[in-house]
Amino acid sequence: MALFNRRPKNTPAIEQSPSAPVPVVTPRPTSDGKGITFPDKAAIDHWNRRVADAGLTVRGVEYNGQASYLTLAGSDAERAKAFLGNEFVDRELYYIVVETPDGTWGLDIGGLYLEQLRPWQLDTGSAEYEVPAGSFAGNSHGAELAKLGRVDNFLVWIGCGRCAHRWADGVRYQNRTLTRCPSCGAKNLVDSSNVEVVLVDEQPGPSSPLSTSSSVPTAYSGSEQQRERIARRIAELVDANQVHYGELSEEQQKQFTDWRHLDAIISSGDPPPDWIGRGVELRSIGHQLNREGGIRLMRETAAEADRVSTYHVVLEVITLFWGSIGDWQS
Ligand SMILES: [Zn+2]
Repeated sequence: MALFNRRPKNTPAIEQSPSAPVPVVTPRPTSDGKGITFPDKAAIDHWNRRVADAGLTVRGVEYNGQASYLTLAGSDAERAKAFLGNEFVDRELYYIVVETPDGTWGLDIGGLYLEQLRPWQLDTGSAEYEVPAGSFAGNSHGAELAKLGRVDNFLVWIGCGRCAHRWADGVRYQNRTLTRCPSCGAKNLVDSSNVEVVLVDEQPGPSSPLSTSSSVPTAYSGSEQQRERIARRIAELVDANQVHYGELSEEQQKQFTDWRHLDAIISSGDPPPDWIGRGVELRSIGHQLNREGGIRLMRETAAEADRVSTYHVVLEVITLFWGSIGDWQS
């Protein structure tokens, strides 16, 4: 108690900056997906400064009708990676990409990724050191995607065989890949045979029996307008949940997001009680989308719903209602 009773007499006052500090804000895509938007002017200035500090320039936003790519360019891959490491992407189908002379680095909802191996990485004969792959870095699904062949690399931590510097870099799955230490330049051959992922599909998992019910063409099918209408309906339902979910009792809340309970109501064919109606409808829409276009249509429609929604929580929330429908992972 008496240990710390002495205090310096000239305790400095805590520095109060004249204006509140600007929190780090990553721009989000505009509702049409073709631009980016910030909450206010201060956030724009702050972000522009961070872009400049990292030696980057903004190329623009590319939108392919589904995904938005905010593209920047810079001369230094390590600084680009550090910049991306401080950005925050919280939605599917949004990518921040930095083109550098040493690869195109990106950030999506899963984390950092290298778009493609650089050609020199396949020149395994020129290695000076051989090191094992370290733990996963960057995108949490990177190794799964690499195993499936959808991407040619995934990010791991690498310890340099010469100087022990650690950095994150892209390597092939279950293979040997050349990397270069950003600190000393040593050519390290990384062996990823110590990394093995088991895909969820390879394990038996719970699956809703309604997922496999036969496909019946319905009013949902087809046109772009109908898809938009469904996306708007999902947005309405999820937005209404944001407002009214708290009014439910604890027991009701449990049933509201219990897919087995929702499926039981749907199977019964009886009209659901009012309080759980929105949950049942969201679940039914999920089944319908799955029957018509599988996981891809579900994802696209959810992303569209999120864009047109008020609270932009569709992508986080929908998984409570669509768990175990087809290939949808909860
Ligand atoms: Zn090194």
